[in-house]
Amino acid sequence: MTPRPAPQEYSVMVLGAGIFGSALAFHLARQGLRSVLLYDAVHPTYGASGKGAGILCSQCWDPWDIRVVEETREEYRGLAKGEPTVEFEENGSIRMIRTAGQEELLRERQRQLTDAGVESSWLTPDGISERLPGISVDGLRAALYTPHDAVVSAPGTTFRYAELALSKGVEVEWDRGTGSLRRERDAWLLTTRTGVARSPRVVIACGAWTKGVLGTLGHALPLAPYRTQAALLEPPVAQGSFPSVHDTDLDVYVRPYPGGRLLAGDGTQLREVDPDRVSTGSDWSFLEDIARAFHVRFPRWRESRVRRSWAGVCVATPDRHPLVGPVPGADGLFVAAGFNGFGVMRAGGLARRMAESLQDGDWGRLSPCLPARFRSPAKPFLPRPGFTLEANE
Ligand SMILES: Cc1cc2nc3c(=O)[nH]c(=O)nc-3n(C[C@H](O)[C@H](O)[C@H](O)COP(=O)(O)OP(=O)(O)OC[C@H]3O[C@@H](n4cnc5c(N)ncnc54)[C@H](O)[C@@H]3O)c2cc1C
Repeated sequence: MTPRPAPQEYSVMVLGAGIFGSALAFHLARQGLRSVLLYDAVHPTYGASGKGAGILCSQCWDPWDIRVVEETREEYRGLAKGEPTVEFEENGSIRMIRTAGQEELLRERQRQLTDAGVESSWLTPDGISERLPGISVDGLRAALYTPHDAVVSAPGTTFRYAELALSKGVEVEWDRGTGSLRRERDAWLLTTRTGVARSPRVVIACGAWTKGVLGTLGHALPLAPYRTQAALLEPPVAQGSFPSVHDTDLDVYVRPYPGGRLLAGDGTQLREVDPDRVSTGSDWSFLEDIARAFHVRFPRWRESRVRRSWAGVCVATPDRHPLVGPVPGADGLFVAAGFNGFGVMRAGGLARRMAESLQDGDWGRLSPCLPARFRSPAKPFLPRPGFTLEANE
């Protein structure tokens, strides 16, 4: 009988090399942890990180969240230095509203930003036209402008993190099949096509597949994968830079994209999906909604041609805060998922915090995200993600 090769030992295994898993592996290694495995069943941009629009917007729900986005932005700014694939641009962002009720909510967002030391300004319809030439301001009441918001390439940033993790000594593996994970005495064992890895700690950062992976281990956390869409458009005249813009009522966002193009999106479907059965192409109805929104709000772009359009799967939680931290009742098992459509703008900051907590055992820096805030068993719920105006209840 041929003896089985001994399992390879690691101090932490990270499953899922999307933007979060790759950022986490990088931070663990940067903070000096040796023998980290970053493992993806397919490849780093197979999931939502390969499809994200890459908008970073500080108009968040609460001061803690604002800080995380600020940390992420500064990290991406640093990653982009001399690295064109990360594509960091500080273009600002604008959120537009129509009603007095919405104004009240947006003013509250602005107060939070001011308290957090984040620059913002209130725009009248004339001010909106100045920032977004060619826009139709009919029916608009006001907008909140945050000049230091940014856009990045979500796939470019993901690969940059994976590359940096590798350069810092992380073992990075992908395309070796969905490994099977099991607990054996005091460690986790990951068996893949090419061998067995063993570690006392494993982090499940598998995006839309996280719920399924945890389910096979007997842990039901309240996560709901849902589908959302985007399209890359070519306007009749190449468009220079402009602030990313979100029309709250038309439910569409648009950001500038390299080459004078536009990236527009939303098309979010508020129901749970199976990530292995969902269509990755966009729906006609989504493209019609974009065309309608351009007709009403952005007439100069209404003759734009669709170059590419797609759908990806994000993950919702009942309170719209992510789930990042120890899985209750499971030794050495951790989760990082449920970014409610905002995983790019939170990954850098949250991954650094999680790496610190894995090292020093203090999870206070992630308290709004800790999975222990939910009592099991997880009840079904409807996703309600997106650029909502109301504060997180
Ligand atoms: C159309 C669209 C637009 C978006 N726009 C924005 C935006 O403007 N701003 C923003 O902040 N966010 C945006 N997002 C959301 C953002 O892209 C996601 O929140 C983020 O990419 C999630 O990253 P992740 O690493 O958690 O998951 P993913 O990127 O989904 O990565 C999960 C990885 O796990 C791997 N995997 C699966 N099963 C296993 C297994 N069993 N073992 C090992 N690996 C496994 C997969 O192959 C995948 O690579 C958008 C998303 C979409 C789809």
